Amino acid sequence: MIVAMQGIATEENIQQVIERMVELGFNVHRTTGASQTILAGVGTPDHFEVAEFKVLPGVHDAYRISSPYKLAGRSFRPEGTKITFPNGVVVGGQEITIMAGPCSVESREQILTSAKIVKAAGAQFLRGGAFKPRSSPYSFQGMGLEGLKLLREVSDATGLLVITEVMEISQIELMLPYIDCFQVGARNMQNFNLLRELGHVRKPVLMKRGISATIEEVLLSAEYILSGGNYDLILCERGIRTYETYTRNTMDISAIPVLKKLTHLPVFADPSHGIGIRDMVAPMALASVAAGADGLLMEMHPNPDKAMSDGAQSLYPQQLQDLIAKLRLLAPVVERTVA
Ligand code: PEP
Ligand code: MN
Repeated sequence: MIVAMQGIATEENIQQVIERMVELGFNVHRTTGASQTILAGVGTPDHFEVAEFKVLPGVHDAYRISSPYKLAGRSFRPEGTKITFPNGVVVGGQEITIMAGPCSVESREQILTSAKIVKAAGAQFLRGGAFKPRSSPYSFQGMGLEGLKLLREVSDATGLLVITEVMEISQIELMLPYIDCFQVGARNMQNFNLLRELGHVRKPVLMKRGISATIEEVLLSAEYILSGGNYDLILCERGIRTYETYTRNTMDISAIPVLKKLTHLPVFADPSHGIGIRDMVAPMALASVAAGADGLLMEMHPNPDKAMSDGAQSLYPQQLQDLIAKLRLLAPVVERTVA
């Protein structure tokens, strides 16, 4: 941490800052210039808040020079994290991972048809919500356990892996036998109790960015899962809320290269929730891969016009197929491959 004192700071002000830094465990190096004193705190105390220093008397400004997340930071694993799934699929390697399927599991027929389409298009994972976080309590809330069973059944039949959303701690145990990857939704990115519990399971987690979360907040949430010992974590940009109302969210493509720089964790993109408009999902998906995404999570429905949730942003089967064909052409430009 660096604390720059004001030119008018008194020796007493300076000593107060030094004392507090030492108390926290910093080694303090003092530089007295012609116009101001700079205090450099070396060392990494577990807990300190830069904001506390910014308001001390005589302080001009204070800056953090080490990152507040230790396990999520790129330097923890400079080579990047790779996650190997039971059937040999590797996330975070050269190959782009594709997860696709409906927003919600609605029926056996709907999810089986979806699985066949998703598999034929070349994806590795089937997505589909069994527990749905809906903005309105009167909207379809998902099929629950029955939905989990259907996901497993049709994925085994087609050779796909299963990703589905966990909304609360009590669902974790129930879900374990049926799924390959937990999805933490945008609304739960700061449900710290849930994140902590997911740190204790030994199954991969994909955590979405909260709708108004900063990149630092995403990484601090990741830290909750990693610090429990679960290192198989994927981060996912899914659009943030801005003043723009034309699109459902604003797909923050810029977060992808930023996250790739700051963390070793695989970074995915969900262009479906990111833009919310079916015909614009493909350009966002292509842009995400061009920007460095390790994988995509996308909504596709066999009959999106009749979907029980998120139909407007769900691709038609043919659109998914066409998009993956384009991704195969684009991937080599960024030194990646698409199965
Ligand atoms: C979803 O994937 O269907 C979903 C609810 O996503 P998000 O948490 O990003 O809104
Ligand atoms: Mn959805």
